[in-house]
Amino acid sequence: MRCPFCKYEDSKVIDSRSSSDGRVIRRRRECLNCAKRFTTKEYVEESPLMVVKVDGRREQYDRDKLKRSLRVACKKRPISTGTLDEIVTKTEAVLRDKFQDEIPSREIGELVMGYLEQLDEVAYVRFASVYRNFQDKEAFMNELTGLKKK
Ligand SMILES: [Zn+2]
Repeated sequence: MRCPFCKYEDSKVIDSRSSSDGRVIRRRRECLNCAKRFTTKEYVEESPLMVVKVDGRREQYDRDKLKRSLRVACKKRPISTGTLDEIVTKTEAVLRDKFQDEIPSREIGELVMGYLEQLDEVAYVRFASVYRNFQDKEAFMNELTGLKKK
């Protein structure tokens, strides 16, 4: 790893630390030329998750977008931000396991609804209604474009 100060090519690792979830390793390094210290981070490279919509279009999965919709559904409910993060993390893990890189958009919503249903009825109903409405709209738009093509 090249030194950010003097650009020397070689450094030694003086400390390695894993993040609590084990996804990131931070390494403290010391330049073998100027002896200045710097930190590098190491991640597992994951291919981006793609969401496949009803009409077959694909867009990159957006973690923040899912979190936002959860936050809206759980507004003023006794659910902590930590719990919401957990739901998102669990959802992603299950989806990656089941579909690898390409996830049907429907599956994300169904999964999240499953978690919310066990957690909080109000949040569940809110999320489900927004989500189903959106699915319907998407299907509807689909039909429209289909009709136009004919
Ligand atoms: Zn250096």
